[in-house]
Amino acid sequence: KEHDSDVLILGAGAAGLFCALTAGARGLRVRVVEGANKPGKKILMSGGGRCNFTNAGTTPENFLSANPHFCKSALARYQPEDFIAMVDRHRIAWHEKELGQLFCDDSSKQILRMLLDECAQAGVEIHTDCEVQRVDHDAASAVFALRTSLGPMRARKLVVATGGLSIPSLGGSGYGYELARQFGHRIEPTRAGLVPLTLSGRPLEQWQDLSGLSLEVEASCGDARFRNAMLLTHRGLSGPALLQISNFWQPGRDVALNLDLMPQTDAQDWLLERQREQPAAELRTVLSDVLPKRFAQRFCELLAPSRPMRQFRPQELRDIAGRLHAWPVTPSGTEGYRTAEVTLGGVDTREVSSSSFESKRMPGLHFIGEVLDVTGWLGGYNFQWAWASAHACGEALS
Ligand code: FAD
Repeated sequence: KEHDSDVLILGAGAAGLFCALTAGARGLRVRVVEGANKPGKKILMSGGGRCNFTNAGTTPENFLSANPHFCKSALARYQPEDFIAMVDRHRIAWHEKELGQLFCDDSSKQILRMLLDECAQAGVEIHTDCEVQRVDHDAASAVFALRTSLGPMRARKLVVATGGLSIPSLGGSGYGYELARQFGHRIEPTRAGLVPLTLSGRPLEQWQDLSGLSLEVEASCGDARFRNAMLLTHRGLSGPALLQISNFWQPGRDVALNLDLMPQTDAQDWLLERQREQPAAELRTVLSDVLPKRFAQRFCELLAPSRPMRQFRPQELRDIAGRLHAWPVTPSGTEGYRTAEVTLGGVDTREVSSSSFESKRMPGLHFIGEVLDVTGWLGGYNFQWAWASAHACGEALS
């Protein structure tokens, strides 16, 4: 049986569902096609099960893209307050955790339920377990014809909301890029983002057994800097500060990653002061006041042999301070798409309208959400991009 609708949306993730409910509420017949056995798997996994559904302080500066102006229009037209209003209307309790990050009090299931309820109310049809085998465009009738595992489907508008490559087990696939290329689009090179960094060789051996320890650092790379927790893992380094900086750092590039272990203090002044006030105390004891004890101990074993403070010459304290402000550990790479929260790069936004999200190469074809070359920081920005791009597209379709 041939399925006809006004709009066909590929991918029932954050962007696909939001575009569907927006266009459906404006009277369009909308059908969503999802490859997985259920919609919104990433939403369910997000924010540790509580879904960090937006960031109250979202600005265009919180996004990475080869074309940084592209995201401005959609972000301005659909703001965090707009999404919060929907969340409130559905009586979902939420709280701000830190840095503008808004989470559900209970469960990310509530956000998915809200999106599915809104879709149902707007008469949207969602087909799961549906594999798209082929997409053709008939120029004469201006209709997209899809061959899928559920039979042929046709529509004048096709919205690609298939997300990025991260976490293949949650549906991450390269299909959106493939389709974009088919219609002549350029893809900005993709790589794993918001991803733990790995250590190898000696650095891994030297720090691995401290796995589970967390400390406040400032991670910086070029102009980007993030002050937050770093977590030592059995494979390397993670935690919010490291995930954030992973969007900016690339192995083998000449822009170095710096990890400051004492970002809030001038370490040299502080060490001189400790020397005056606790001359008999060992360096590792003094460092344990500001660093986790086992970390301080290992730091001394490897980088600054511990002695009573009075025995250090000023030059030695200056060297130790230098290592505290620039911990000399260089990651070897990242954990890759298996654990990455997002995919950097994607469909080149210079070939897509920033107001309707329609392709400038193929009328009727749209791209929204993470498949585009727009990637947010950690902290709810990526969902806000999914909502905002989907909203702009859904309005433009109708
Ligand atoms: P997705 O949500 O990935 O949806 C794409 C959909 O398309 C999927 O359902 C997929 O199965 C489907 N699909 C793919 N290929 C095909 C195909 N060929 N045919 C049919 N369907 C297909 N961001 C935040 O802002 N806050 C968070 O708390 C947060 N937590 C996260 C936690 C984890 C573990 C991960 C992996 C990501 C997290 N993110 C978070 C990022 C956020 O989930 C994504 O940026 C967002 O989901 C992107 O929305 P999207 O709709 O573009 O893509």
